[in-house]
Amino acid sequence: MAFTLPDLPYAKDALEPHIDAKTMEIHHGKHHAGYTNKLNAAIEGTEMEGKSIEDLLGMASSNKAVRNNGGGFYNHSVFWNIMSPDGGGEPSGELSDAINEAFGSYAGFKEKFATAAGTRFGSGWAWLCVHPGGKLDICSTANQDNPLMDVGEGCGGHPIVGLDVWEHAYYLNYQNRRPDYIQAFFEVINWDAVAKRYADGK
Ligand code: MN
Repeated sequence: MAFTLPDLPYAKDALEPHIDAKTMEIHHGKHHAGYTNKLNAAIEGTEMEGKSIEDLLGMASSNKAVRNNGGGFYNHSVFWNIMSPDGGGEPSGELSDAINEAFGSYAGFKEKFATAAGTRFGSGWAWLCVHPGGKLDICSTANQDNPLMDVGEGCGGHPIVGLDVWEHAYYLNYQNRRPDYIQAFFEVINWDAVAKRYADGK
């Protein structure tokens, strides 16, 4: 069964002014669609066909096309779903407790996450990850790598927040101002969705 491009969980313009409709249209409809199609092409007719995306990421070191396009397929699927027009604010409950324990405060989390996203040289992603038992960690990875891959990148946990810092994610609206895009992302994080990923991943 081939992978299919997931629908956006909101309208293309729903995250404005933080993320503009044209960027969403191209990012989802062209970039994410491209990763999905190329992933399918890379595994078609091979022993990788039929495996879950998580299983494919776990063997990404063995196949460059699966590493790049499987990562692109998975990472963007996470990204769309941890944002919402009703997002922003701060997490609550056990996720809030875990953030305070790991980073001192929500402000401490924001600062460390923004630094990870802002200092990633070139294209890549910043991640908030949960380890078994519930401990949180922040890291970044290059290109379309992610912490689920067997490539020795990232903090090795299960990603619960991912921020795309490729220029295609922000250049139309923010040009070179990646730090402004990162700050805008905090205004649309869907903490309910992140809390669910935390509960499932810990
Ligand atoms: Mn992207």
